[in-house]
Amino acid sequence: MKPLQELVRPNIWSLSPYTSARDEYQGKDAKVFLDANENPYNAPFNRYPDPLQRDLKKKIAIIKGVKEQSIFFGNGSDEAIDLMFRMFCRPGVDNAVAIEPTYGMYGVCADINDVEYRRVLLDENFQPDADKIMAATDANTKLIFFCSPNNPSANNIDRKVIDSVLDRFEGIVIVDEAYIDFAGVPSYLEQLESRPNLIVLQTFSKAWGMAGIRLGMAFAQPEIIGIMNKVKYPYNINQLTQQRAMDEVMQYDRVQEWVKSILRERTRLMKEFAKLDCTLQVYPSDANFFLARVKDAKATYDYLVDCGIIVRNRSKIALCGNSLRVTVGTAPENNALIDALKKFK
Ligand SMILES: *Cc1c(COP(=O)(O)O)cnc(C)c1O
Repeated sequence: MKPLQELVRPNIWSLSPYTSARDEYQGKDAKVFLDANENPYNAPFNRYPDPLQRDLKKKIAIIKGVKEQSIFFGNGSDEAIDLMFRMFCRPGVDNAVAIEPTYGMYGVCADINDVEYRRVLLDENFQPDADKIMAATDANTKLIFFCSPNNPSANNIDRKVIDSVLDRFEGIVIVDEAYIDFAGVPSYLEQLESRPNLIVLQTFSKAWGMAGIRLGMAFAQPEIIGIMNKVKYPYNINQLTQQRAMDEVMQYDRVQEWVKSILRERTRLMKEFAKLDCTLQVYPSDANFFLARVKDAKATYDYLVDCGIIVRNRSKIALCGNSLRVTVGTAPENNALIDALKKFK
């Protein structure tokens, strides 16, 4: 890996971050807070939240088996993705490489930040080739994005490819593990200590069932997390979100039960979906959704909308012609989908 100072934009490297009242005073013993121009009434929401979410990091460090200093919380993973571009990529100069097709936010954040985004097409099994990815890089490539399990193809990306790129690339490698809880394979968090150029993204939006509170996680070596903390909005995670997440991590067994039942339903739903007249192919899934090629994606999608059932038409995406992306729901929801499609002519 290149020295971090060579990878980070010079203005970010030398940035003196905003220091909030809550940064300056970190103790818990004080009783009278007259430092932040808050309203003394309407507790507890009158107070600014902890800018570094220390209580929540303590809990997540235990659940994930990582150091607290290796954790960043964002307003969804999307904040962490945007920060990657703002921290590492000089607009109009640097570039990022990603597998294609994949999660759309990487490309959108690249566009917003005026960073060239290079797409490296997956093969017909939705797997990447390490040589092709490396061939797409040059001296100004700062980031390489993997998403595993990948959205929208739902499969785990070949670990040999990710490992090979981690070995060979001198910049930052991001592995987005939004669906890792469904994947049945170990997380790349295992390699966090041995891979200084690795950033792992996870989220509370999928297995944790909390897309509404907007809380994403990034894991990396403490030096990278320190720079992310410097660039983020001081109070990026509000008090309601921190509190709700704290309550939820106390019931982690519930999350594990949800995952089990979603995995059971995934097997059943995919089997049923494969039998439908409209279906040509159901691709394997390691996530809480699957991709299926159908005879006519638009007609199928429109018919389902008329039935009050919404799936995602991914037909315009590379390698996904006439394909629908279907999220696994509850048993009654999945039955409603199958029953509707059985009647589709
Ligand atoms: C759903 C999803 C996320 C989650 O984004 P949040 O902003 O945390 O809700 C991240 N990455 C991928 C690939 C996803 O599909």
